[in-house]
Amino acid sequence: MSRFLNAKYAGLTAYTPGEQPRDRQYIKLNTNESPYPPAPAVLAALGAEDVADLRLYSDPEGTVLREKLAGLYGVKPGQVFLSNGSDDILNFAFMAFGADGAVFPSLTYSFYPVFADLHQVAYETVPLKEDFSVDAAALAGRGKLTVLANPNAPTGLALPLDQVEAIVAADPSHVVVVDEAYVDFGAESAAALLDQYDNLLVVMTYSKSRSMAGARLGFALGSRAIIEDLEKLKYSTNPYNVNRLTLKLGQAAVDADGYFRDNARRIMATRAKTMQALRALGFSMPDSQANFLFLTHPKLDGAAFYQACKDRGILIRHFSDPAIAQYNRVTIGTEEEMAAFVQTAQEILKEGL
Ligand code: PMP
Repeated sequence: MSRFLNAKYAGLTAYTPGEQPRDRQYIKLNTNESPYPPAPAVLAALGAEDVADLRLYSDPEGTVLREKLAGLYGVKPGQVFLSNGSDDILNFAFMAFGADGAVFPSLTYSFYPVFADLHQVAYETVPLKEDFSVDAAALAGRGKLTVLANPNAPTGLALPLDQVEAIVAADPSHVVVVDEAYVDFGAESAAALLDQYDNLLVVMTYSKSRSMAGARLGFALGSRAIIEDLEKLKYSTNPYNVNRLTLKLGQAAVDADGYFRDNARRIMATRAKTMQALRALGFSMPDSQANFLFLTHPKLDGAAFYQACKDRGILIRHFSDPAIAQYNRVTIGTEEEMAAFVQTAQEILKEGL
């Protein structure tokens, strides 16, 4: 730290992204990316003229993409907010709506407490139930900005829509953010509730089901007034936070909507097969509705299993939080990648750690 840093940031613990080692080729199952490329129409969307047009700023309003997303989700273009990945939107949400503090589950996306600290939003956490599911009744009506990842990470479990609705309905005076980064892998979207609740913000991303993590494109759906608040912060930070190329790729992806839904189904089928094979080896894990598994094994120390997988060329995600130190999060890759992971786990079990 330099002596120049504003003292208010001195104690901040930043988010740690999943590692991207370059020392060898890994089967990469640690950051919940899609194993499949974006839709063919997305691959073909850009030409040299688009690169030449980089001399021009992007449309800060993202007019065309907002219209397309509004059509897809049955809302008005003014109810769509675009940003540089959904992390960017979550950041704005804490900045905008955290005046009375924030609440989220005790085990969830580890970026939430970082955003809260960054914006000096006091937060409380609500323990998960014994089976790792979110305690909707305990989360509801806390009188604060409420943030719910649904499906939750890193557990992969989703709340049904009626329980999400109960949380949104319990506190009309505060925004409820439903972070749906993984919704396309089998959960119900709260977008269906947007007509009824003006305190709901549904946050989605192109990074997972749409196979475009590197493009950095997230969007949120909410009431016009909430979206205007987010826009005020965006225009006070970086109006051009979605670049020209990404806007165009994002539009092509909406036009090829069926492609990514097919991929999500493939990933869900691979997930079911992988869960079955791992449970047969003695692993236990919640019934994931996301593109990852959250697994543990009575004979394998969590950190040692992570390292043993890495030594054998497979990257998975281990978290230092002592409450989940015996667990690892494993992204669903291709059929072949998951067969390799199951085989590796079997070898590690046989050889011991
Ligand atoms: N929400 C959750 C629950 C996530 O796991 C992630 C991915 N790390 C994000 C949001 C952010 O994704 P992105 O910024 O790539 O849209």
